[in-house]
Amino acid sequence: MNKYYLTSAIPYVNAAPHIGHAQEFVYADVIRRFQKIQKKDVYYLCGADENGLKIIRAAEEKGIDPLKFTDSNGRKFLDLAEKLQVEFNVWQRGSNPKHHLSSQLLWKKCAANGDIYKKNYSGLYCIGCETFYASEELDENGECFEHPGRKLEKVTEENYFFRLSKYQDFLTELITSDKLKITPDFRKKETLSFIKQGLDDFSISRSRARAKNWGVEVPGDPKQIIYVWFDALNIYQSGIGFGYDEKTYNKYWPANLHVIGKGILRFHAVYWPAILKSAGLSLPGALFIHGYLTVEGQKMSKTVGNVVDPMEIIKNYSSDSVRYYLLREIPSYNDGDYSERRFKEVYNADLANGLGNLIARVAKLCEKNKFAFKAKVSKDAGIYPEAAGFILEYRFNEALRIIWEKISEIDKHINQETPWKLQGNALDQALKYYVKEIITIACNLQPFLPQTSEKILEQFTAAAITSEKSLFPRIT
Ligand SMILES: [Zn+2]
Repeated sequence: MNKYYLTSAIPYVNAAPHIGHAQEFVYADVIRRFQKIQKKDVYYLCGADENGLKIIRAAEEKGIDPLKFTDSNGRKFLDLAEKLQVEFNVWQRGSNPKHHLSSQLLWKKCAANGDIYKKNYSGLYCIGCETFYASEELDENGECFEHPGRKLEKVTEENYFFRLSKYQDFLTELITSDKLKITPDFRKKETLSFIKQGLDDFSISRSRARAKNWGVEVPGDPKQIIYVWFDALNIYQSGIGFGYDEKTYNKYWPANLHVIGKGILRFHAVYWPAILKSAGLSLPGALFIHGYLTVEGQKMSKTVGNVVDPMEIIKNYSSDSVRYYLLREIPSYNDGDYSERRFKEVYNADLANGLGNLIARVAKLCEKNKFAFKAKVSKDAGIYPEAAGFILEYRFNEALRIIWEKISEIDKHINQETPWKLQGNALDQALKYYVKEIITIACNLQPFLPQTSEKILEQFTAAAITSEKSLFPRIT
């Protein structure tokens, strides 16, 4: 079993992507690149959740056809991924007819197992989350924690429900035993305590009228549309052929890892494994849950007007420098902050001075002394074991810390050795050592800063090592 099937959360494409989306893309991409270096057959899926009420409302506000609306917003997500050097194997859209077939098959399997029933329901619904909340789950203003300032809607209708309550013991065992491994550990505890409070069956359909005739039809009941989560989570399966391409599906399913943000933990750690179990399908192996980004210490919001467009930063600096900031400055298990001031500080200290400076000074020494590194270099040359250990725990900031420690070690070593005073064999040996270390560093940078890694490898494995343009020109 050499496959590694990886997904990142399926964004709602009701607006352009912000820097939080960039962060998640980059996290998943580091895992993708790292697993490829380990010679895995990696398959990475992302996609667009297009069937929610939020989409319809946003499209209506703009007076655009929903399909055109999701087309143009989805394109922005793809552009961002491309600029960030994030490569998907598949981008699956909720409006894809094959996805519709696939979600209906999932429904039929759960129904055949007796886990879907119809009942009258009345509850408080958050359109932002596309979910019902019990009043004790809301804040003091009666609003959900993900969407403060947005009133919930009281909704009464006849819906289909999924028998989640039946899976309480199953889920407890699944998560306690790490058969579904939740990282970080405090998210595992959080999930177990949520399950312990008791699980309620949840609504998985809504009336065609309320869904505004948009979404996947419930099999055998054209008056009902499959409700967001049941349908959206299934994008992870429909994108690899569930229901229409058994060969690809059997090759990659189950997912080795779902990468998600903390706000959708419950849907992935509780709803999703229960649905799959009910349908008699294999379960994903792991969840990695990251925190959220604030901007200058404040929650990002259109009302505050502090939504950061990652495309702007990439344009002004570089794709790798944005990747570096998101990976190094934000502790991946927790929330983090983006600020322009901090971005410039980190850029100048670590990229312009730290890495860029080391590369420039060694290249200059080599050029001056006409030194070339003739040994054969494998680009797969090892990732430092300590850094690899951190990547496997998704602690990218720690992995980068290890690499940057090596950078400053070599810098220090050069200062002590003063190679500019050396000659002949002693000089040759010194340069050989620096170049070898730099090549190892470049190999280590592959999952994190792919463009930079490639440039350094090209420069230092060339027939003649020459000084090149600064990798990261200082920001003044
Ligand atoms: Zn909400």
